[in-house]
Amino acid sequence: MSYDFRPDEAYAWQLDADDPLAGYREQFHIPQRPDGSEIVYFLGNSLGLQPKRVRALMDQELSDWAGLGVDAYFEGTRPWYSYQERFREIGARLVGAKPNEVVTMNSLTVNLHLMMVTFYRPTKARHKILMEDAAFPSDTYAVKTQLGYHGYDPAEALLIVKPRPGEHIIRTEDIEQQITHNGEQIALVLLGGVNFLTGQVFDMPRIAVAARRQGCVVGYDLAHAAGNVPLQLHDWKVDFAVWCNYKYLNSGPGALAGCFIHEMHGHNLDLPRFGGWWGNDPDTRFMMHLQPQFIPQGGADGWQISSPPILAMAPIAASYELFDEVGMPALRRKSELLTGYMQYLIDRIPSRRFEVITPREPAWRGCQISLLVHDRPEELLAALKADGVVCDFRQPNVIRAAPVPFYNTFHDVWIFTQVLARHQRTR
Ligand SMILES: *Cc1c(COP(=O)(O)O)cnc(C)c1O
Repeated sequence: MSYDFRPDEAYAWQLDADDPLAGYREQFHIPQRPDGSEIVYFLGNSLGLQPKRVRALMDQELSDWAGLGVDAYFEGTRPWYSYQERFREIGARLVGAKPNEVVTMNSLTVNLHLMMVTFYRPTKARHKILMEDAAFPSDTYAVKTQLGYHGYDPAEALLIVKPRPGEHIIRTEDIEQQITHNGEQIALVLLGGVNFLTGQVFDMPRIAVAARRQGCVVGYDLAHAAGNVPLQLHDWKVDFAVWCNYKYLNSGPGALAGCFIHEMHGHNLDLPRFGGWWGNDPDTRFMMHLQPQFIPQGGADGWQISSPPILAMAPIAASYELFDEVGMPALRRKSELLTGYMQYLIDRIPSRRFEVITPREPAWRGCQISLLVHDRPEELLAALKADGVVCDFRQPNVIRAAPVPFYNTFHDVWIFTQVLARHQRTR
C-alpha cells in the first residue's frame, strides 16, 4: 500500500474533504477546550467518544421504566427481556462470528475469569498459561490469581513471550516456537489481539493453528482489536475471546463487555461453568424454585449469569447501530489511510527524542501509533496537551496516539505532528 501523501496543511484539508466517512464526526460529542475549540482526541483506545444518539436511547429506557415498571420487560419500546439479543448479529459481524457465538455481559476482566473457569482446566502435566509481554495488567492479575486458585505458582506456571533484545514487536515465530517447545505443558494460550502498548496486531489465525496443533486452548483479549481491526474468530477456530465495548466501540465508561465462545464448545452443555438464571434454558428460567436444576442454554448465552442491566446497554445499542451502518471494511479503509498518514508525517521529523514502535505494515497495526520517548516523555505529553492534543501515556515512556476513523480527521493528525515537530529536539 502506498499513498502519495504531501506534508502541507492544505493536503490534510484535502484528505478530509475527500473522506467518505467525514460526516460521522458529527454523530459524536467532541470534547472542547475552555475556549470552546474542539480538542484533538487521540484517546479512543482508552475511552471512545459519546455518540450523540445515546441520550435519546437512554431517555427511552428511563421513560419505559417510569411508565411501565416491570411490564417493560415485554412491552417496552425495546423489550428488556430480549434486549441483549439485539447485539448478537452486530456483535457477530464485528468479530467475525456466528450470532450464537457472541454474548454481551459483565465486564471484560470478569468475562476473562468466566472463560478461564470453563477453558482453563489444568492438570499436573498440562497447567501452564502463555501470555505476551507487556500484557495489560488486568489480564496478568486475572491469570495469576487463576493460577493461584488452582494451586500453581505463577513463577513456574506463567510463560511469557517477549520481543527480542533491542526489538519492540514480538515475532510470530517466537510465539510459535514457545508453543511448540512447551506445548504439552501449556493449557492455555492467552494473547491480546492487538497489544495495548505497542499497537501490534498478532497473527491470530496462525497462532491459533500452532496452539491447536499442541492441544492448547487459545483465547484472545480483543480489548484493542474489536471495532479496530478485521476479525474472523469463527473461521480461525479461536476457542474463546473477550473484549470491552468502551474503547473503539464507544459504548461508555465501564460498558458491558463482549464474549465469544466458538460453537464447537457453545453447545456442549456439559462444559463446567458458573451458572445463574440468565444462562439457564429460557423455557425453565421462570419456573424458579420449581426447577432447581441448572440447565444451560446452548451457545454463548449459556454463560450469562444475571439479568442484564438495561440502562447500561442503551449506549451499546446507539454505538452498535453506527458500526453496522458504516461496517468494518469502510472503517478499516479509512483507518489504514489515517494511521498511514500519521506514520508518513512522523517519518518526516528527524527526531532522536522519540521513535515509533508500532509495526509499519498496515496489516500488523490498527489505528494506533505508539511513540517511545527517550527524552522527557512527560514534558512531551504536556506540550501536546497544551496545544489541545490529548494522547495516552504509559509509564515510563510511551505515548500512544489513536486516530479513530469514526471521528478523527486528517487535520487532527496534521496538528499532532506539527506539535511533535516543534518539540523534536533532545536536550
Ligand atoms: C482495557 C483493557 C482491560 C480493561 O478491563 P476491564 O475489565 O474492562 O476494566 C483489560 N484488558 C485489556 C487488554 C485492555 O486493553
